Parts: sequence; C-alpha cells; structure tokens
Amino acid sequence: MDVRELYQEVIVDHGTRPRHVGRCDSPTASCDGHNPLCGDQLTLTARVVDGRLEDLQFTGSGCAISMASASLMAEALQGKTEAEALALFERFHAAVAEGDEPDPSLGKLAVLVGVRAYPMRVKCATLAWHTLKSLLAQESEVACTA
Ligand code: ZN
Repeated sequence: MDVRELYQEVIVDHGTRPRHVGRCDSPTASCDGHNPLCGDQLTLTARVVDGRLEDLQFTGSGCAISMASASLMAEALQGKTEAEALALFERFHAAVAEGDEPDPSLGKLAVLVGVRAYPMRVKCATLAWHTLKSLLAQESEVACTA
C-alpha cells in the first residue's frame, strides 16, 4: 500500500468513525476551537490528574480531515503527560505546517502530513492540536477559544 492510499484509508476511517467522541467524566478542563476558513468547530474536554491526561474526548463537526485529526490526536494522547502531549504537538506541527520530515514518534499521526500539499487544509489538521494547547494552558475548567 502506498502512502497516499494509507493516508486516504486512515482519514476516511477516523473521519467517518471518530474515536473518543463525547465528554470526559469529571473533566478538569475544556476548550472550544474554531477554524473559520473551513467551518470546523470542536470542543475538547480533558481530565488531567497530576499532569497526566487520564482522558481526552471531543465533540464537534467539520470536514473529514479536522475530525480525523481530532480522533487521531485523542487516541495518541490517552494517558500521556502534558509535557509529552506538548512535545508531540511540536513534532506534529513541524511536519504538517513547516514541512519537516515526520518524526517516527508521530506514528499514525504522520498520515496527516499529506495535507501539506493543500495549504487550506493545514488549519483543519492542526485545529484539534491548537485547541489542546489552549486547554493545557488553563488551570481549571474555563472554556476558551483556540
Ligand atoms: Zn476543515
């Protein structure tokens, strides 16, 4: 299977059957994100205990890339520490938005690097991550807008 087929398959899979959709039990933080260029919007809720993401869920609507990216991110970050999540954000952003070679630690997230060929879609792929970064910057449950 070539990279483009894998890209299609993962985007379609996560875009049509997103994982970790809903709200966390006892969330400690939430954040709304909005991409006006495409109309994507999502709400993240997280339960962060001792600096670790015990749970991360999202609700929202938008194009397949934004939903697939949120789903892949939520899957990748379950149980990760905030520091690990931010480090992964930096590597993801570098690959998708800045054109760096994808780091092996990105795993399945690397399929989204394909959006680099479509500059309008980069914000779709990074919306969930920018929203997460805003969420982690909060200290208590206060909604914010990415
Ligand atoms: Zn979009």
